[in-house]
Amino acid sequence: MGEVTERAEQPDVVIVGGGISGASAACRLVAGGLSVVLLEKQDAYRDLVRGEWLAPWGIREAQRLGVDDCFSAGGAWEIREWMTWDESVSDDEVEAVDMTRFIPGIGGPMSFPHHAVCDLMTEQAVAGGARIVMDAAKIAVTAGPRPVVTYQTAEGAHELRPRLVIGATGRGNTVGRQVGITMRNSMHHWGGGMMAEGLDGWPPDVQAMGTEGDVMFMVFPQGYGRARLYLNFPTVNKHRYRGPGGVERFLAAFRLDCLPDQGKAVTEASPAGPLSVWPSVSSVPEGPPLAEGVVLIGDEAGNADTVLGTGLSCALRDSRIVCEILLSTADWSPRAFDPYVEERSFRLDRLAFGASIISRLHVEFGPAALERRRRVRRLMARNFAAQVTGLLNMVAPEDVPEFGFSEFFAERLFRETA
Ligand SMILES: Cc1cc2nc3c(=O)[nH]c(=O)nc-3n(C[C@H](O)[C@H](O)[C@H](O)COP(=O)(O)OP(=O)(O)OC[C@H]3O[C@@H](n4cnc5c(N)ncnc54)[C@H](O)[C@@H]3O)c2cc1C
Repeated sequence: MGEVTERAEQPDVVIVGGGISGASAACRLVAGGLSVVLLEKQDAYRDLVRGEWLAPWGIREAQRLGVDDCFSAGGAWEIREWMTWDESVSDDEVEAVDMTRFIPGIGGPMSFPHHAVCDLMTEQAVAGGARIVMDAAKIAVTAGPRPVVTYQTAEGAHELRPRLVIGATGRGNTVGRQVGITMRNSMHHWGGGMMAEGLDGWPPDVQAMGTEGDVMFMVFPQGYGRARLYLNFPTVNKHRYRGPGGVERFLAAFRLDCLPDQGKAVTEASPAGPLSVWPSVSSVPEGPPLAEGVVLIGDEAGNADTVLGTGLSCALRDSRIVCEILLSTADWSPRAFDPYVEERSFRLDRLAFGASIISRLHVEFGPAALERRRRVRRLMARNFAAQVTGLLNMVAPEDVPEFGFSEFFAERLFRETA
């Protein structure tokens, strides 16, 4: 790092990372009267292929943070029905699930362009008085009662001495690693995602997921013939969608017998953004996600497998709880965050458990896995209580009955037929 070019600014809070968690925290903190500097490494928001499906309980978190308008103005699209088109489900068994009634007054989940919403959130934060630094490089955080943040821009080197640093850099865990917070990582499968347009034959307010052959697919419409497409697949196929022709192979993977018209609405669509392929890693912090003068939120504080689709809701919940603490007490010592640490650990445990059930059920392939899906489906049709973990997509983890998280429940669900 070069010589520091200015006297250290002393804002109340420095937020490192301007994704959904960091940008929403900036909005809430400035609205509450605190001074905030947000450092984002990108020079402009672009499609990084992140989550774009927000659960109803996440929408409620966005409302509580006062950032829900950013979703509406950014093009959020309400999804009303969920179809399971799957090789284990015959045509006459396919049934639409009404997604609009899980949380009264909220409606169905939202599908939205992630980078557009981040842009609008930073605009809202700036209008409230935050200073946003885009293209901030080489950020280094030193924990302590008065933490130090250094970074570089085209103008030179800078130093900040806030009262608190919020680490919100996502799965890269940049701040966490710098202040000694380590993560325990695990991985069940790989995933790929891409925005597509021209899905004129796809029902506009219907999302779908299902498994056939060696892929588990998801389609989340965003209106106007656009949809975010995801595939989950075994690690052994991790190179399948890379390199020349990868995009074509990705779209062609939606040619599935279980989909209406064998998936023609998707296979004839066009790419409208980058294709990204990633190991679907779950991370749990080995200890509380904080250090003296530093607290982590969003994916940086730990995340369940993306297959569950709750990372955004979690990011907004983290942001809300941490902001509420900061705005309600002058004591910002690590102890002040005990309620956050406790609630987050409970929440991540439940989400990780739910994600492991979804992964085992929907992202394992071959005859035995197919037979297991058929059997679990029959069980769920007979006994609605067996669907309990599926509720995790819709309502907050604390609102899902406890028995859905027991080993006994998992054992019953996955018991193989003789
Ligand atoms: C492919 C995929 C699909 C997903 N699908 C869903 C879904 O449908 N629904 C759902 O709820 N969740 C989903 N998730 C999870 C969801 O995207 C994340 O939980 C959410 O984006 C976390 O928000 P965040 O702000 O914590 O982190 P991020 O979104 O990762 O944002 C981190 C920000 O920090 C910036 N940054 C990183 N490093 C630095 C640094 N060193 N200095 C400064 N800035 C930095 C990045 O540029 C970025 O802007 C998905 C995730 C992936 C990867």
